Amino acid sequence: MIFVLAGRLFHFFLPGGILLLAGILFGHSPEFIHWRPVVAKVLLLVVPVAGFVVCWRFNKFKPVFIVLVLFLAEWLFGNFCRGVGIDLALAAIVRDTVAFLLPLNIAWLALGHEKGLVNIPVVAKLMLVAAQPLLVFSIYFYRPEILAYAGKNFLPWDFPVWITLGQPGIVAYLLAFAVLFGNFLRQRGVIDIGFIWALLASYFGVAVFTGLLSTSFLMLGGLILIVAVVEAAYVMAFRDDLTGLPARRALNELLLKLRGEYTIAMLDIDFFKKFNDSYGHDVGDQVLKMVASQIGRVSGGGCPFRYGGEEFTVVFPGKAVADVTEHLERVRRLVEEDGFALRKPDRPKSRSRGRKGRGANKQIGKKKVGVTISIGAASNGKRALRPEQVVKMADQALYKAKESGRNRVVF
Ligand code: GH3
Ligand code: MG
Ligand code: MG
Repeated sequence: MIFVLAGRLFHFFLPGGILLLAGILFGHSPEFIHWRPVVAKVLLLVVPVAGFVVCWRFNKFKPVFIVLVLFLAEWLFGNFCRGVGIDLALAAIVRDTVAFLLPLNIAWLALGHEKGLVNIPVVAKLMLVAAQPLLVFSIYFYRPEILAYAGKNFLPWDFPVWITLGQPGIVAYLLAFAVLFGNFLRQRGVIDIGFIWALLASYFGVAVFTGLLSTSFLMLGGLILIVAVVEAAYVMAFRDDLTGLPARRALNELLLKLRGEYTIAMLDIDFFKKFNDSYGHDVGDQVLKMVASQIGRVSGGGCPFRYGGEEFTVVFPGKAVADVTEHLERVRRLVEEDGFALRKPDRPKSRSRGRKGRGANKQIGKKKVGVTISIGAASNGKRALRPEQVVKMADQALYKAKESGRNRVVF
């Protein structure tokens, strides 16, 4: 349990949290003061271009929109809040409105499904982003007193003094954080984590808005998103989408790294074709997920993979056959004991069909169908075998398990 929690936290902090931490250390260390202009300029140049290229190539448009609003915030700070001879009143207004609008925009742009660039909602989004500074400047010229609210403290209590934003900005950041965290809990994607860290980086960018550090923090937010997009592509290539287990590509990588003794097990669902034929492909997919989740619980240091179709592989690095017998037997039993409760994958669309359908669902929901797997395992022993040869031996053992009646482990 502790390991699972540690693994999740690790997953959450890498790489966004580490990048932000590096940014904070960079900002706090006097040794790096001379580097600030260089880092700010490099990030300002690289992040928008790389953001556009990477998101375009990986077909992810939500992050690129956020990079765009971060860049817009940077542009506004650069033009109205920094340097000599600036209008201080205007600078305060720009900063307070950015502090309020930036987090809300990040949260809003991070929500929803990824769609292509060529559709109306996306164009509408772009226009809504561009319209905000125009609207704010119109208000500034015609009803400037309204903008004073962006920096006004309206709550009956005070936030700690080290939070330098006005209360509207703080509340907007808290709200955006809650929204993005909720989104992460629902989706659990790598990019969803990136949105959270990008939001936090942008907070630092807004908090120190007058200096070059602000540029670095705002662009760091963009960099965090770019890295998240690349990482998500990596995860996609190495993880099986349906079952969530590592995919064949990840298995191949592990096979290349194996040294010393190891055991490989091949697992195959029994009579799976019949399952598909009787209940349909969607139910077949659910059975696959269920079996995969049990295989994912393998103990004894086994690394589970989806080999392909309804076949799985578990690799036990450093283990002899005798070490893994009980662990494989446990996996076989877990699947057998779990069974599969049939239910309809899609809810009926029409109301009248829905009523009938729901009744039928209840009936069908009670029906438990037995699911079993057969397992074949082989070890390289002390022999100089290539992993592919061991996989073949495990496959032969699996064949024997099927021949001798299925739902068993054979070595
Ligand atoms: P055996 O006990 O000998 O393994 O019998 P089996 O029916 O499980 O074996 P067979 O290899 O003949 O059938 C495997 C079936 O798995 C064929 C294919 O339709 C189905 N299958 C493979 N991948 C998927 C998938 O991703 N989803 C679903 N629903 N079915 C799949
Ligand atoms: Mg098969
Ligand atoms: Mg099968």
